[in-house]
Formats: sequence, structure tokens, C-alpha cells
Amino acid sequence: MNRNIRKVAVIGSGVMGSRIACHFAGIGVQVLLLDIAPAALTDAEAAKGLQLTDKQVRNRIVNDALQATVKSKPSAVYTKAVAARINTGNIDDDLPKIADCDWILEAVVERLDIKQQLFEKIERYRRPGTLITTNTSGIPIHLMNEGRSEDFRKHFCGTHFFNPPRYLRLLEIIPGPDTDPKVLDFLTDYGSRHLGKITVLCKDTPAFIANRVGVFGFMAVFKAMQELGLNIDEIDSLTGTVMGRPKSATFRTGDVVGLDTLVMVAKNLPKNVPNDEAKDLFIVPPFIDTMLTNKWLGDKTGQGFYKMT
Ligand code: NAD
Repeated sequence: MNRNIRKVAVIGSGVMGSRIACHFAGIGVQVLLLDIAPAALTDAEAAKGLQLTDKQVRNRIVNDALQATVKSKPSAVYTKAVAARINTGNIDDDLPKIADCDWILEAVVERLDIKQQLFEKIERYRRPGTLITTNTSGIPIHLMNEGRSEDFRKHFCGTHFFNPPRYLRLLEIIPGPDTDPKVLDFLTDYGSRHLGKITVLCKDTPAFIANRVGVFGFMAVFKAMQELGLNIDEIDSLTGTVMGRPKSATFRTGDVVGLDTLVMVAKNLPKNVPNDEAKDLFIVPPFIDTMLTNKWLGDKTGQGFYKMT
């Protein structure tokens, strides 16, 4: 299947959406990056007399996320020139612009209800034949396309990028029940030739492959550290450099992922594997709930298991 990917719409400008946007922009693709409008004014906006309806305010979330990504580099790829290829906006005003995009990539919060509502809205403006994919970490693909048109389902599948997408080469491609095999062939080829990925075709099983193993690993560490009386430094010393993972020891990875997202993935998994013997492992320990209440979500809030400097 021959497709020209001129412009990609990335919906959700959080940890993953803003980085995926930069990755596409880095290979010369135009990007439309959208997020929801803010629910409240900041003190600075209120002092300037701005209103929630002002475009500048409605685009604040997405612009802040993009600027943070560009500034946090550490690669020359995330330059201002790359950012200039990214047009930002908010869902309320700018969703119709997806009609001009060749690939719509959803990267919003890991909740089935929110993703389903978004796909229903996307269907109003999406040009038939356009690729439509989700970056979900583990929500079953077949649940996300329920109620969508035949054309949508044919062009819909999971494209699961790993964090940070600039460096991690794995791209899981997960077909839904009706995905056209030509779409999968195209994404496999595009992923490796243009995005620099090693693509793996996964079955639509809960959390697919890497997260089924990876989240299990995280939860097992939470349990073991409590049983063995180990602390975060000890675990990261054991699972980092000495294991050949200088940047990705367990808790440091948790901060990069975002604790809220990690917990959502961990909580979704047992719902979809009710008979799995390991499901008790997915009970989130109280110290993690306390961290969520305190908004210690990791790099995105400046404090997680570690405090950012
Ligand atoms: P995040 O919380 O950093 O960002 C989510 C963004 O979605 C937020 O900016 C939020 O405002 C926006 N949003 C929420 N509802 C929306 C809506 N209705 N319309 C538009 N935008 C909306 O989350 P994230 O870590 O970027 O995760 C996004 C997706 O990628 C999730 O499905 C997650 O499971 C998956 N994922 C995350 C990681 C990771 O390491 N964080 C890795 C791979 C996949």
C-alpha cells in the first residue's frame, strides 16, 4: 500500500504525545498536536485579564508540554526548527483540522472511556481511508473501536511507542479484529524505514507483550521491596548500571513513565486477565497511592521517586 505521510495529527500532548510529535517532526513530517483546553486560568492569565475562551489560554496545555519537551532535549533533534514543524491547538477549536492529516495518532490518558469518547469525535472529521492508531499501553484494541464505522475499524490499530520514543526502538503494532492487513504492512514498513523502529506485530492480548512483562516486573519489585525491606536506592543500584541499564533502573524508569500512567496500566491489566494467577500482584501498595495523592507523579510534576533538579 502506497501512502504519503505528509501530516500527522497527535492527540494528547503529555509525556508521550509531545515526544512522539517531536519524533515525527524530526524526520520532516508536519504535525498537528492537540490537547484539551485548560479547566482553569493560571494566576498569570487571570492577572492579564484573559478568559478561558481565549485561544492563547485554550492552547496553553499543549504549548507548555511541547516547550518542555523541546527544552528537555537531551538530543539536538529536539530543536526549535523541529518544533516549528509542529502546529499546536486544542480539541474544541481545532479537531476539524484532522481532516487534512494522513495519520491520526491518539496519545491521551490511559482510560478506555476517554479514548472511546475521543474516537467518536474523531470520526466526525476524519477523512475516510486515513490511518488511525492508538498509543495505548495495554487497553484491548477491540474495545476501543466498538461503535466505530467499518472504514474506521479497517484503518485502526495500536502503534505502541516506548518512552522516550527518540531512543527506545521498539514499536508494537497491534491489529484489531478488522484491521486491514495492508495497513499493518504499511505501518511495519514505515516504522522501520522512516521512524527508525524495530516493529513487532502483537496479538491484541491485555498489555500486549512488553508491558505484560514490564508492568509485572514493576509490581513484583514493589512487593519484593516491602517483603525484603529494601529501599529505592538499593533497588535502583541492583537494577541499573550493574545490570547494563545505566539510565533505566526501576524507579528512575517509573519517574520517566509517570506514576499515574503506570498505575492506570497496572490497574487495567487484572480487569482484562481475571483468571491470571498473578493478578494479586497488581494490587497497588498504599505508598504508591500516597504518592499519587501528593501528585508525586515523576518527571512531569518535578517530583516522583526522585526529586528533579
Ligand atoms: P500524560 O498523562 O502525560 O498525557 C495525557 C494527555 O492527554 C494530557 O496532556 C491530557 O491533558 C490529555 N488528554 C486527556 N483527555 C484528553 C482528551 N479528551 N482529548 C485530548 N487530550 C486529552 O500521559 P502519557 O504518559 O503521555 O500517556 C499517553 C498514552 O500513551 C496513554 O495511553 C499511555 O498508556 C501511553 N503510553 C505511555 C507511556 C509512558 O511512558 N508514559 C509509554 C507508552 C505508552
